[in-house]
Amino acid sequence: MTLRLPSELVAAGLAPPDELAGLARVAARYAIAITPDIAGLIDSSDPNDPIARQFVPNIAELTTTPDERADPIGDHAHSPVEGIVHRYPDRVLLKLVNVCAVYCRFCFRREMVGPGKQMLSPQELDAALAYVRAHPEIWEVILTGGDPLVLSARRLGEVIRRIGGIEYVKVIRLHTRLPAVAPEKITPSLVRALKAPGKTTYVALHANHPRELTPAARAACARIVDAGIPMVSQSVLLRGVNDDVKTLEELMRAFVECRIKPYYLHHADLAPGTSRFRTTIEEGQALMRALRGRVSGLAQPTYVLDIPGGFGKVPVGPGYIDMCGDAGAMVEDIKGVRHAY
Ligand code: SF4
Repeated sequence: MTLRLPSELVAAGLAPPDELAGLARVAARYAIAITPDIAGLIDSSDPNDPIARQFVPNIAELTTTPDERADPIGDHAHSPVEGIVHRYPDRVLLKLVNVCAVYCRFCFRREMVGPGKQMLSPQELDAALAYVRAHPEIWEVILTGGDPLVLSARRLGEVIRRIGGIEYVKVIRLHTRLPAVAPEKITPSLVRALKAPGKTTYVALHANHPRELTPAARAACARIVDAGIPMVSQSVLLRGVNDDVKTLEELMRAFVECRIKPYYLHHADLAPGTSRFRTTIEEGQALMRALRGRVSGLAQPTYVLDIPGGFGKVPVGPGYIDMCGDAGAMVEDIKGVRHAY
């Protein structure tokens, strides 16, 4: 059973009884869900367990720092109709559902997701798809949310068929945590529902720690990839979860072993009550530099920052070259030694 109440967390040994009142205040503001697969991964004897840190609520979530904001990446500023975010010319986000199988304590859309904020209404979905149809520059539709894979195969398949019917949409991408947090939900019929005739589907798996890639999670990913659906990864750089190079290395190797191309390592966004998770960008760059010295290009994600306010996502280094005008350039190798070019 998915744990949703602070009392259930206490009963499961995932939170101490004396924190119950504080966690009830957190639960009144932000959704909680921990699936059996994730609960089973938590080592409750370890106060710093990296899985618990991602999913077990903490009283610190009630403290918002001055730089944090309810809509950290500016979705609202780019939302022409309910459910659509059109930030870049050739692609849109379609936020089909606002519920997830788990609720991550660092979630950048934490003010927008949770039970009770279910799915787009049929009329809203019609309007969202009409918007896509009216914009021939849209080449890719990205289903996110919320986690679109929490929908039944029938409902998700219906939406994907409708998107697939839009001539100039060539790529349908789904962002999900489900293969890792509830792998049994990745059924053959759900996998079939992800594909639309003549279109390319990608699945982006969100995972942050190598322990999330359990044998069951790897098998769920294999069901997707074996169906001819390429997968990419997205992870968030999180203090106390994956902010050391050994963990990042293991995570990226695990993705590649699962035929998932490491895609993005996100700098943690300025979501309310999440400051305990954020590293500095300098720390992130140092980790990326260290990772480059340890794993092949196949296992390298791009370290990105979503510029607060809705200005989009950009790579934030580190850089390896300084241009020196007519004198050429100085290039740094993976050991940090600089060379004239
Ligand atoms: S699965 Fe994604 S949208 Fe849902 S809580 Fe986690 S980060 Fe937020």
